[in-house]
Amino acid sequence: MTVQEIASLIKENTGAQVRLDEPMSNHTSFHIGGPADLLVIPGNMEDVRSVLRIAQEHAIPLTVLGNGSNVLVRDKGIRGIVLKLGNALKYWKQEGNIFTFGSGISLAQCCRIIGEAGFTGMEFAVGIPGSLGGAVFMNAGAYDGEMKNAVMSVLVLTSDGELKTLAKDDLQFSYRHSALQGSDAIVLEVKLQVSAGDKTAIQAKMADFNQRRISKQPLELPSAGSTFKRPEGHFVGAMVEQSGLKGFRIGGAEVSKKHAGFIVNVDRATAADVLQLMAYIQDRIMKDYSVQLVPEVLVLGEE
Ligand SMILES: Cc1cc2nc3c(=O)[nH]c(=O)nc-3n(C[C@H](O)[C@H](O)[C@H](O)COP(=O)(O)OP(=O)(O)OC[C@H]3O[C@@H](n4cnc5c(N)ncnc54)[C@H](O)[C@@H]3O)c2cc1C
Repeated sequence: MTVQEIASLIKENTGAQVRLDEPMSNHTSFHIGGPADLLVIPGNMEDVRSVLRIAQEHAIPLTVLGNGSNVLVRDKGIRGIVLKLGNALKYWKQEGNIFTFGSGISLAQCCRIIGEAGFTGMEFAVGIPGSLGGAVFMNAGAYDGEMKNAVMSVLVLTSDGELKTLAKDDLQFSYRHSALQGSDAIVLEVKLQVSAGDKTAIQAKMADFNQRRISKQPLELPSAGSTFKRPEGHFVGAMVEQSGLKGFRIGGAEVSKKHAGFIVNVDRATAADVLQLMAYIQDRIMKDYSVQLVPEVLVLGEE
């Protein structure tokens, strides 16, 4: 079947939005990335199930995306279907101190809902871009917290098309890692358990975290956040800066002048520019510190 025929099939069987040859630069915080053959934005959970079924029946590769804030999509783009959940499944409900959210809700919105209701435990995440599903997948964290502190369980769609609830222990969270990495499970829904707190204190903490981000991070330029994971006992930004690489540029990709832990897209950078710059930094840090930097940013798409 051609990509056009698959697109028609998805349109006939779901309420999803379907776009052919969609530039991924429109869907990533880096503003980088070649075209996806088909970008599909589901309307609801049933659409996600149907898209998975169609992809499997026709042996089409399926890539799941949240809000594209931790990925670098290669210049040739992504073959097959990109299923974009960020901003798609956004429902939520509260039962006491347990909040259930659709995985596509933005993490910031989810934190604000919890804070407004007078519950504490998610303030750390208010400034982390992306969707809740992506945050669970990455075990996103900042300041005094990480997702593993609040996640109670997730509802996933497995590659067999089954709905399954995974408890916190099944998710094997560790630093920027969850068991979802390396599995094909699609996170549809997330249950967060938080504690009753003081609303004014919660809001003050969120405002403080946001302020710290604004002052330290290059939020005015496209990026995918920290380029590398934090190696034990070191700070990437400080090492890169001390190696004299702050402001170092390859093509349109630059080591941020504000925070050397970030690579920013300063002038229509390509994925190739960013990958070259990453390799250059890794090489230099290995020479200067004998430390192997491991990317935190996930690289997707055709090589
Ligand atoms: C300016 C900036 C600051 C940042 N600061 C931080 C920070 O402080 N702490 C931090 O941890 N991160 C930070 N990040 C990185 C990023 O925001 C987080 O990793 C975020 O959780 C990614 O969410 P996303 O929805 O954008 O995921 P995406 O980038 O879309 O996807 C990331 C991975 O998750 C998978 N995925 C996404 N949704 C689902 C789903 N529903 N089911 C299954 N798999 C899914 C994708 O397949 C992909 O492999 C920052 C990024 C930027 C741009």
